Amino acid sequence: MCYLSDLALHLLRAVPKMKKFLIQREKRMSRIKYEETAVRAAECLRMALPLMTRQTARPHPLSYAVWYEHVAGRNAALSAEIESLMADGAMLDDAQTARLYHKHVMDVDTQAAARVAEGFRGILDDVGESARQAGMHSERFESALANWQQAVADGHAAQPALSEAMRTDTQAMRTAVGELQSRLQGSRGEVERLKRELDRAREEAMRDALTGLANRRAFDLRLAACLGDDGGQGCLLLTDIDHFKKVNDTYGHLFGDQVLRAVAQGVRACVGPEHMAARVGGEEFAILLPEAGLVHAQALAEKIRSTVANSRIRRREGGDPIGQVTVSLGVAARRRSESADGWFERADQALYAAKHGGRNRVNVAH
Ligand code: GH3
Ligand code: MG
Ligand code: MG
Repeated sequence: MCYLSDLALHLLRAVPKMKKFLIQREKRMSRIKYEETAVRAAECLRMALPLMTRQTARPHPLSYAVWYEHVAGRNAALSAEIESLMADGAMLDDAQTARLYHKHVMDVDTQAAARVAEGFRGILDDVGESARQAGMHSERFESALANWQQAVADGHAAQPALSEAMRTDTQAMRTAVGELQSRLQGSRGEVERLKRELDRAREEAMRDALTGLANRRAFDLRLAACLGDDGGQGCLLLTDIDHFKKVNDTYGHLFGDQVLRAVAQGVRACVGPEHMAARVGGEEFAILLPEAGLVHAQALAEKIRSTVANSRIRRREGGDPIGQVTVSLGVAARRRSESADGWFERADQALYAAKHGGRNRVNVAH
């Protein structure tokens, strides 16, 4: 009896706190209703999930990105290809989904990953539903407590039926709150995990696996972004290892890979954080200097050339260094209203001239 009265008082004190929590949650939910993007993101996610799970492809973050983009209706080329691939009721497998991602999502819009992550947060809003249900339990429980309080006041609290009802209601309330808590924690953890995985996938898709530098895709995107700036400045350096075929032929392809890594390391050591160094071909590297003028770019090209030429690459720890490895470089300053291809082409021609001039040298495009 004493225990039940204490419990009743404790719970009576707890109810206003719980109500406050639920009201605050409700307010947060209604605020979200007025945030167009968050609502839209959750809506897209709800549409994307069933489409995605119907495929044979695993529900990988890349799949989320593909289906999210499709249902959001902002990627016409992707939607057209999905529709043609699925015209005969076919299902998308892992390879097709990855290809669609790289072709349409990664290349078309690098912000896609961020938008998908935002969509995942919509999952959390679904948890609001279980908060609402817990709220309903709370109201029922509150009225049960009021009855119990009345029974205590009237001296009927000791009736076994009332005590039993109180125990049952308490247990139901505990279960509802416990479920809400674990659902909240589970969803939040899952969303964070997906977001991390998506970030990692995105990063890997932009990096060259052998050298750790940015890859061609990342470089093309950055070059396009650079052209989008109105400044009309910037320089492009193209670097090619001299007689690299001979290195492979003499020491083998695996050692050739080691030389590629060593040259990439030399390039990385010379460039600053404001530059972008990428491996854009087999033994070719590009360095984009978005703000730099020709004098600065030419000096950097010379620094890269001498760093590589002065490095001593050894076949194994403590072994004799191999013959000198050198690079040739072409430098081109950006011309106003020039296309990415045009700019790249001029840097390539300058590089070609450096090769013809005897290699291990820098040549500037005019
Ligand atoms: P040049 O001075 O005119 O540039 O001569 P080169 O021998 O460097 O140029 P060429 O284009 O004839 O040969 C490039 C070689 O680069 C051929 C190819 O096997 C090698 N290569 C391309 N990618 C890789 C790679 O990932 N690893 C290794 N080990 N070799 C590669
Ligand atoms: Mg080459
Ligand atoms: Mg070469």
